[in-house]
Amino acid sequence: MARWPLFPVTVVGSWPRPTWLLEAMKRGRGDLRTLQDEATLLAIKYQEDAGVDIVSDGEQRRDNFYSFICHRLDGIRLMTMADLLEYVEDKAAFETLLNALDVPAFAIKNPTVVGKLTLKEPLVLEDFKFVREHTRKPVKVTLPGPYLLSRSTWVKSLSDAAYPTREVLADDIVQILRDELQALAAAGADIVQFDEPVLTELVFAGKSATRTFMCAALAASASPEGELELAVDLINRVVEGINGPIVALHICRGNWSQKEEVLLEGSYDPLIPYLARMKVQQLVLEYATPRAGSLQALQALPTDMQLGFGAVNPRTAALEAPEEVASRVTQLAELIAPERIYLNPDCGFGTFADRPVGTPDVAFKKLCVLSQAAALLRAAT
Ligand SMILES: [Zn+2]
Repeated sequence: MARWPLFPVTVVGSWPRPTWLLEAMKRGRGDLRTLQDEATLLAIKYQEDAGVDIVSDGEQRRDNFYSFICHRLDGIRLMTMADLLEYVEDKAAFETLLNALDVPAFAIKNPTVVGKLTLKEPLVLEDFKFVREHTRKPVKVTLPGPYLLSRSTWVKSLSDAAYPTREVLADDIVQILRDELQALAAAGADIVQFDEPVLTELVFAGKSATRTFMCAALAASASPEGELELAVDLINRVVEGINGPIVALHICRGNWSQKEEVLLEGSYDPLIPYLARMKVQQLVLEYATPRAGSLQALQALPTDMQLGFGAVNPRTAALEAPEEVASRVTQLAELIAPERIYLNPDCGFGTFADRPVGTPDVAFKKLCVLSQAAALLRAAT
């Protein structure tokens, strides 16, 4: 049952917000929802025009890929990194980290658990229904992953009254994400993608002096192996027994700066044994920059696991040539079956609302490159 052509083109999730939406978000205008609707329609239109086969809502209703959940849950609130500095366990390390990043501490807000988590409204179900009503294309929905959430939102002195340990919090997070996935499955979502960007930080952080992810900086670091085991366990508990959508997991290495040197570097190789044990049907990985390492490691994945192949860099204005993209995919197709390969950019185009990594014009052209590459590949098979 092919729901889409071979080498389907899709996105990782976010799309640069229009300036009028950013202004309305800042000022908290009463008609924000209407403006978000319009921005979403625009994001869909760009994707459709670029020939994307599976579209997303561009995350136009979010301030970033994960902290938007604060608006949909009670018991969690946004705190600036400057606020949190008072509460983190290892202040010196945290300060060093903030200084190493090219963002000011007050500019990034972290969702922090301060009470028992309860749902005010579904996390993304209504957003999905809006997209479903406004496109004929299959739809991908994105959600923050259970490991990211349980790691970044638990700050001991603020969270321990409601959740004595991170593990107890993780139990509630798993249940909330399971309920959401079930609802999305019932509503007909085609792909549900969980974002777990900090997994790469676990395997690379030991090698570099600086930690790269603000969202992972808060938890005192345990052993990388233990953390990866936890990540495998949490995602498997979220997806267990739920059928319908293709469940995908996206892992990248930082998408908040155009400076390559401040983003994480390293291949996915050390993660592959853990990823192979995740009960997800698709991995969405970055392969558009040399930081990704070789393709060979992907051969160790289960043969029924699909790969969302990051084939264009969302952070650069220079356009990749469709022929080059197609030729890299042809190399990949010698290692894993072509039916398993999806084409996408390395990450979203607007992960953080006020800090998009590209303009809509460049983002549109990058997606056009992907669909031109897909056309070349389809013509050759
Ligand atoms: Zn990403």
